[in-house]
Amino acid sequence: MTQKTALVCGAGGFIGYHLVERYKKEGYWVRGVDIKKPEFSPSTADEFILADLRYPDQAKKALSLNGMVFDEVAQLAANMGGVGFINSNHDAEIMHDSALINLSMAEACRQAKAKKVLYTSSACVYPERNQLDPNNPRCSEDSAYPAAPDTEYGWEKLYSERLYLTYGKEYKMNVKVVRLHNIYGPECTWKGGREKAPAALCRKVAEAVEGGTIEIWGKGDQTRSFLDVDECVDGLRRIMMADHPLPALNLGSEEMISINDLALLIIRISGKKLTLKNIAGPEGVRGRNSNNTLIQKELNWQPSKKLEDGMRKLYPWIEKQVRQ
Ligand code: NAD
Repeated sequence: MTQKTALVCGAGGFIGYHLVERYKKEGYWVRGVDIKKPEFSPSTADEFILADLRYPDQAKKALSLNGMVFDEVAQLAANMGGVGFINSNHDAEIMHDSALINLSMAEACRQAKAKKVLYTSSACVYPERNQLDPNNPRCSEDSAYPAAPDTEYGWEKLYSERLYLTYGKEYKMNVKVVRLHNIYGPECTWKGGREKAPAALCRKVAEAVEGGTIEIWGKGDQTRSFLDVDECVDGLRRIMMADHPLPALNLGSEEMISINDLALLIIRISGKKLTLKNIAGPEGVRGRNSNNTLIQKELNWQPSKKLEDGMRKLYPWIEKQVRQ
């Protein structure tokens, strides 16, 4: 096959869906793999395999390509969700499922002699002690150790980063590790318990009656930064295509905002008159922001879009889902 080939694991999920689209636009032959198909729009993958990647034989099948080798493997499959999911009694299943997926995938990639393997880790690997002040979080790549993530989800990500990096070193695999910081955009999970803050807030605003209130978990002064999925996919492609070895890299935005201010921004976009009601709920760390110094230096990458521009795309998409 002269056409380049890519395997996207987790292609039934939010970022995987968009990554498949991007590969197709670039002319790749793409196989998507997941335990489910995308929920909202059909995948554009050339082939979509339903497989449970926790099992080594299914990971092996995902990598098998008529005696050929995938040019690129993007491993995004994980048992994951937003703060309401990873902070409330799903730790054992998250650690069990995602560790098994990564153990099976790393070994299947080694056996298949995959040319390049990208693993999506998370900002959740960073130690809680550096994220106690909402206005001054520290999330540079070199601050990950001594390790002390605040969630078991973060510990599993850290373990799996080490797994892929060790496979890279000992088996001479070309491995790339990226730490994503809160990605948002159309096609994301927006209800059911796994949704992340931007989608949850858009849903609450879309469902609220004029003059009503929306509930915000915590005091709302906790801070985060959010990256538009198109910019995320752009960064993932740059990382995958880099021809020099890369350390684990942050991929996020440095435009930090409090959760209350994010809610107010969405309300403004909706055109409704609503007030915020802060209630007890899972909040995660007090503050988190991407630090893009290293990715800027290594790949000259920075997001170009403002949060408001991205939210102006997300809100109408969720509003439409709510109305359907
Ligand atoms: P997602 O939940 O939408 O996608 C993950 C996909 O993995 C899902 O479609 C799920 O069905 C699939 N999956 C779960 N178990 C599987 C199994 N046993 N076999 C095969 N597939 C399985 O999440 P996403 O937001 O698209 O995230 C993609 C990756 O990026 C994940 O690894 C996630 O941890 C990481 N990440 C995402 C964010 C974010 O803000 N979205 C932030 C940091 C890291």
